[in-house]
Amino acid sequence: MASPPEALAHAQLEWDTPLYRMAVAQFDQAVPVAGIAEDTAERLRYPERSTIVSIPVRMDSGRRVVFPGYRVQHSSITGPTKGGIRYDADVTLGECAALAMWMTWKCSLLRLPYGGAKGGVRCDPHGMSPGELERLTRRFTSELLPIIGPQEDIAAPDMATNEQTMAWMMDTYSMQRGYAVPEIVTGKPISIGGSVFRHEATGAGVVMVVSRACDRLGWALAEQRCVVQGFGNVGGIASLELHARGASVTAVSDVSGGRHSPDGLDVPSLFEYAREHGSLENCDAGERISNDELLELECDILVLAAREDQINAENAPHIQARMIVEGANGPTSLEADAVLWERGIPVLPDILTNAGGVTVSYFEWVQDLGRLFWTRDEIRAKLEAKLSDAFDRVWDLAEERNVTLRMGALVAGIREVSEALEARGIFP
Ligand code: GLU
Repeated sequence: MASPPEALAHAQLEWDTPLYRMAVAQFDQAVPVAGIAEDTAERLRYPERSTIVSIPVRMDSGRRVVFPGYRVQHSSITGPTKGGIRYDADVTLGECAALAMWMTWKCSLLRLPYGGAKGGVRCDPHGMSPGELERLTRRFTSELLPIIGPQEDIAAPDMATNEQTMAWMMDTYSMQRGYAVPEIVTGKPISIGGSVFRHEATGAGVVMVVSRACDRLGWALAEQRCVVQGFGNVGGIASLELHARGASVTAVSDVSGGRHSPDGLDVPSLFEYAREHGSLENCDAGERISNDELLELECDILVLAAREDQINAENAPHIQARMIVEGANGPTSLEADAVLWERGIPVLPDILTNAGGVTVSYFEWVQDLGRLFWTRDEIRAKLEAKLSDAFDRVWDLAEERNVTLRMGALVAGIREVSEALEARGIFP
């Protein structure tokens, strides 16, 4: 049946950008494999609500600057919407829409009672002082007050935001309510209801998924040579975990460029260096290499933990890794996926591989609501159980249908949401 002319498919969409188109194209490839009805699919192709705000901030110089801010809530079918807030010069409504859609599939794949959201502010966070970032965060939170809440939409850290950002958000929200509301955000400091394992959760989860994949492939993780792009909260922790499990980390990179040592880098001291100096800029470990060279190094496992759009049609044929691991959201383009599939290089997809973050966010939220807290070991064990269950479903589905692991993950996630949508129906 043809869509009526007023349908969104025919409209110029405000969130229509290359990344959103990529998220929709992935979804469209998964729909027939998932076997869901077209009118159900049509609802899930668009975010439920997209909010744009303008945020005036008094800078240290006394000048006022107005920043654009966004929050996109993709789906509230199975629960409150959930997802990070990023501060970055490239944030757009379309980027948030794509990332919010991936959050929906990620949460449903992990069987967490959430839909996806993502938000951010277009700014240069590295050029701003702590005071400026605090004022930006507080005003952004206050602009979002009508659409956020512990049962509506729960934020978390993402690129260039952290525990402190979440503490400011939690405080701003709580001051409006008149009492402490820790469950409004996750990834906050432990002293105000944060989870003892949230900070490491994404990076540790990445390595739990890698380890499970190695088991299925018959590889010994301790014998693998790994290259890690990104050395922040995801890549830095993943590097430490890989090193702790005996794997050799031969190259890492951050915004200042890459470091390479074929015999393996001393990851704990690099991590300490980055923590002390803010980046790897002036550290003398290994040889300097560019980001592009790093991606094409010969290795067993390439972890992409920087940002979206890193492996594309141009560099996919030159990748020399035996396995690609998506710690970041959306680092591999659709065209690259096809090339890597052809070349027999498995890609552990973002919505499975970096789901440790939102899974421990869920544990944090449940603990805050119940005012009852688990130990680190309990949380680690619960995370491992959740990720293993999702991994096995994805791997088996991909094998059964002879499709990529990304397709397996999307199909598993999309099926859960579409079943819920069909059970609830469309209002009114
Ligand atoms: N920003 C993270 C992600 O992309 C975490 C989201 C959360 O914990 O809610 O998965």
